[in-house]
Amino acid sequence: MQKVKVLTDECIGCGACVGAHGDIFAFNDDGKAEAIADGDEADVADAIASCPVGAIVED
Ligand code: SF4
Repeated sequence: MQKVKVLTDECIGCGACVGAHGDIFAFNDDGKAEAIADGDEADVADAIASCPVGAIVED
């Protein structure tokens, strides 16, 4: 499993990561994504590649 985090200052709340990988990401009260769990390495890599602003990084 891979630890992952969201750089909340960069997140624009597009929902791509939450929609595709809701077991790893959820929205916080500010409408920004945050990591709620470690993820399968392939899923984390997909989320990183799919974020339009590069806000998801390995932790
Ligand atoms: S894909 Fe990126 S910009 Fe979109 S909600 Fe997730 S972290 Fe935020």
